[in-house]
Amino acid sequence: MSACRKFQQMLNDFITVGINDEDIDFFVRHAKNCKDCYEELEINYMVNVGLDRIERDSGASFDLKGQLEKRLKQLEERSDRLYKFNVYKKIVCIMADICAVAAIVLFLI
Ligand SMILES: [Zn+2]
Repeated sequence: MSACRKFQQMLNDFITVGINDEDIDFFVRHAKNCKDCYEELEINYMVNVGLDRIERDSGASFDLKGQLEKRLKQLEERSDRLYKFNVYKKIVCIMADICAVAAIVLFLI
């Protein structure tokens, strides 16, 4: 499946329920690098979120473009945090392995 196709299948999730943690990195990166898909995202976001606002007549802000950019920025930050978390997790696992090996070696001496 092409990246654009994958992105477009995720559009609806982004607008309605949100994106799975494992897909965030792909989604944010593609939105930043593919102009066509970003435009598609913008249009979908405006139509869906905009209509929802009108129905509710909430009087809330209509700066949908700004909100979309803010949401993407939040996702990007989340993606960074997840990446760091995974790196720390790997480091902890490696250290635990080293400790286990050291304990075995010490036990054998
Ligand atoms: Zn694309």
